Parts: sequence; C-alpha cells; structure tokens
Amino acid sequence: MSASQPSFYSPRLAALEPYVPGEQPRIASLVKLNTNENPYPPSPLAVDAVQRAAAAGLERYPDPESLELREAVARRHGLHADQVFAGNGSDEVLAHAFFAFFRQAEPLLFPDVTYSFYRVYAQRYDIPCELLPVDDGMRIDVDALAARAARGCGGIVLANPNAPTGIGLPLTQIERLLQACPGRVVLVDEAYVDFGGESALPLVARYPNLLVVQTLSKSRALAGLRVGFACGQVHLIEAMTRGKNTFNSYPLGRPALAGAVAALQDETWFDRTCKAVMDTREGLSLQLEDLGFEVLPSQANFVFVRHPQHDAGEMAAALRERAVLVRHFGAPRIAQYLRISIGTRDQCGALINALNGILAP
Ligand code: PMP
Repeated sequence: MSASQPSFYSPRLAALEPYVPGEQPRIASLVKLNTNENPYPPSPLAVDAVQRAAAAGLERYPDPESLELREAVARRHGLHADQVFAGNGSDEVLAHAFFAFFRQAEPLLFPDVTYSFYRVYAQRYDIPCELLPVDDGMRIDVDALAARAARGCGGIVLANPNAPTGIGLPLTQIERLLQACPGRVVLVDEAYVDFGGESALPLVARYPNLLVVQTLSKSRALAGLRVGFACGQVHLIEAMTRGKNTFNSYPLGRPALAGAVAALQDETWFDRTCKAVMDTREGLSLQLEDLGFEVLPSQANFVFVRHPQHDAGEMAAALRERAVLVRHFGAPRIAQYLRISIGTRDQCGALINALNGILAP
C-alpha cells in the first residue's frame, strides 16, 4: 500500500493475523513434501465422476444440503445423514464449528503445539482461548488437559493424530476428555486419522458433546477438490447448518459433490494407497534416523523430525536449493523441527539423496 493510499481495512480485519499456508510452487519439477498432500493421484472413479458432473449441469446450483455426500459419509461410518455436515474443505468445517460452539465465557482449550489455524479461527470469532503446553516429547498432557477442562472451559479442540507432530492419542484418552467437559463441545480433528490413527467416530452415538471432523484432502487425495465433513449428534449438526446458512448456501459445487461421493465408494484404492503411505513412512523414518535425525512416532502422512547438529531453517533452505520442499515453522517451540510429508518412494529417495549432500561433512 502506498503512503498516500488510505487503508480500506475495517479495524476488525486489521487486528487479525491470517494463517500462512505452505508454498504451492508453480514449478512442477520440485519434490513437494511440504503440505501433506497425498503423493498418489485420486481414485479414477472420483476423477471420472468430477468430469461427468462438469460436463452436465454446471448452469444449475448444486444441492445446498449436500445430501448425497452426507449419505455416503453416513453409510461408510454407520451414521445417519442428519449426523453429518459437509463443507468446502475441513478448514471451512472447522471455521463453522468454532463459530457455532466456542465463543463462551470460559476459554477454549487446545495444545500449544497443534494446527496453527485454530488460533486464527479463535481470533476471527473473538473466542478466548488457553493453550496447554505439550511435554518435551511433544505429547499432549491429557491429565493436565482433563483437569483444566473439569474446572470449566469453553470447549476443547484436538487434532488426532496431532499436527505437526503426527503423534496419535488412543480413544480411551479422547473419552476421558469428553467426560471431563460434558457441557461443552470437544472437537476432534481427524484430518490424518486414516494413516494409522484411532477414530472417535464410534463414540458419536454415546457423547452429545463430540464433534469429529475429517477431510478428503489427505487419505482420498482430493486436496484440489476441497471437501471436508463433521460428524456428531443431530443437535450439533443443526447448529452448524444454522451457521453455514448465515454464510454460504452452496459451499460445495457439483463436481466436488460427485467426486467426493465416488471417492468414498472406492475402498480398494483407499486401502492400497493408505498402506503404501504408511509403509513408505516406516522406511523413511528409519533412513532419517540413520542420518542422525530424531523422528517423532507418526500415525499421519508426515514425519516431524529434528537433527541435533543441524539448524532446521538452514536445512529447509538447503533442501529447497536442491528442489525439495519441506515445511519449517518459525514458532519458538518447534523452530528446530522439519515437517516432511510422505511422498512416493522415489520422492522420499530424492529427499534422502539431498540430505546426504547437505549433511555430509
Ligand atoms: N486439520 C488439520 C490438522 C490439517 O493439517 C489440515 C490441512 N492443512 C486441515 C485440517 C485442513 O484440511 P482441508 O481444508 O484441506 O480439509
């Protein structure tokens, strides 16, 4: 903005600090291990459904209720469609949940090391929040969180497995938190659960305060389509729908709806690619340990690593010079870590080659 240009920002906008997404480079030849996308192309059934939907009917608005998609999610998880909310990526679903449930007198609780968008939504919707420190091993202290919640809170948000650590919590621990916070919503963000985590979806029937959020961006390889959903008891879904209808009636376009439904039906593709990502993760973790990295135990499609002798920011820059993108966050507690998405075997091989060059004395 030039000095003579007045600011058109409202004071509310000026006070916000936006989330900064990982780089989406325009150069196709880079090895892209920085935004936790799936390294494999999506199910051909999904691509075909997107193309067919684009070829017919784009002049009409899509279904504002996303009913067919919600039915497909419900069928897969043993729920009813009225227990499912769909949105334009799980980021949008999370935003609706923050708006619907968390602006309370007591603070919303979440770990200090977690998905950094939670803070952004809290600020956007003027939600007081309290961040509870993870321990030195980057693990969530469930005892401390449950004790704090029992004293009164505005709700709890957890990514499980957590991001960017990749560490998962067993369902018994999630259940403790649900019991510690019966009067407020506990949101479990399961963006990465299909890569070895334990889903809380089987608890939906028993806990009126549980909201589980998932995405088709990761394990269904549809980051480019923008589809996410939330599951919870009917009263929670009604609340979110009420909020959605003050914002955007048609969050999902026809191609997205058709592609998502088809993707959810291709279990063969899903099982094969999730297994490939998990197998590659185990192999890559061992190779990184051989290079001297500490690798946190991951149940996600990425690993969070640090090297006792090498600065993480410098390593990320050196990798970029060698055409490999990984994610480095500047936040103080995690500034010495790199988050590396699991690529194909070839992409992970290129990463290891580049690291060999960088770390060689
Ligand atoms: N939750 C977590 C923990 C994530 O890492 C991401 C991806 N950045 C999201 C939600 C959002 O994913 P999407 O909007 O693509 O569904």
